[in-house]
Amino acid sequence: MNILTFDIEEWFHILDNPSTRTVNEWGNYESRIRADADRILAILCNHGQKATFFCLGWVAETCPDVIRAIVSQGHEVGTHSHMHQLVYEQQPADFERDLELSVKTLEDITGQKVKYFRAPGFSITKTTKWAFEILLKNGIEVDCSIFPASRAHGGFPSYKVSVPSIIKYNGLEIKELPINYRKLFGIPVIYSGGGYFRLFPYYFIKKWTGSSKYVMTYLHPRDFDTDQPVIRELSLFRRFKSYTGLRSAGKKLDRWLDEFEFVDVGTAVGHIDWNLVPQVHL
Ligand SMILES: [Zn+2]
Repeated sequence: MNILTFDIEEWFHILDNPSTRTVNEWGNYESRIRADADRILAILCNHGQKATFFCLGWVAETCPDVIRAIVSQGHEVGTHSHMHQLVYEQQPADFERDLELSVKTLEDITGQKVKYFRAPGFSITKTTKWAFEILLKNGIEVDCSIFPASRAHGGFPSYKVSVPSIIKYNGLEIKELPINYRKLFGIPVIYSGGGYFRLFPYYFIKKWTGSSKYVMTYLHPRDFDTDQPVIRELSLFRRFKSYTGLRSAGKKLDRWLDEFEFVDVGTAVGHIDWNLVPQVHL
């Protein structure tokens, strides 16, 4: 099962960097989300492919047409939070306020219930397990925030499961669709999204997808925007990660969609036998 998802945010929503951190800085940059989202929607339309879009409430507020276009083409909308802040830098009450606002903003535009969540930067970590209680309380049925490996920000390396699973925490349970990885020389390697997707030649992406039972993708509008301005303040390493492989990403996605079957989160959730998946006690 291959699940196709996009995180809908602007090209400047880069985490853990002072010049792009909050809404106070975002006003310094041009909006490109309309054209960037249209580019993705056109690729999906060509393939007759449906996907799940984890949208920022802030994007819904500033460019509601983007969300309307996504829904009108039959795609699913989940939330990627409202203000794109790292979960582990927030108090539970702040996280809940932000989540409520994103859910309300998206539901008002789509007329549909928001049931899926992905944290900015996969920033639900072992120190912020309380987030799962807040997600359930606010109507989220499926979380897609677990990145079961180490990562610059976020990541949950002690979550040893990289397939659909049930999280059990504090007497509650929530469905989890984590990012998948494959082990190379004993080291987990991610290839289904972000810089990793842009960096690896398609040869490897095809090979690894073909030999995986479960793939969870996470792509962004900026992964396909070859003309986006460069954020100069990023370190050399982060600039490499942020801007490498932009030119070939669209073609790679085209080939990926041609050669493999993908489903959206709702279809995946319906097909999984949740009685048989691993249960992870946090
Ligand atoms: Zn994001």
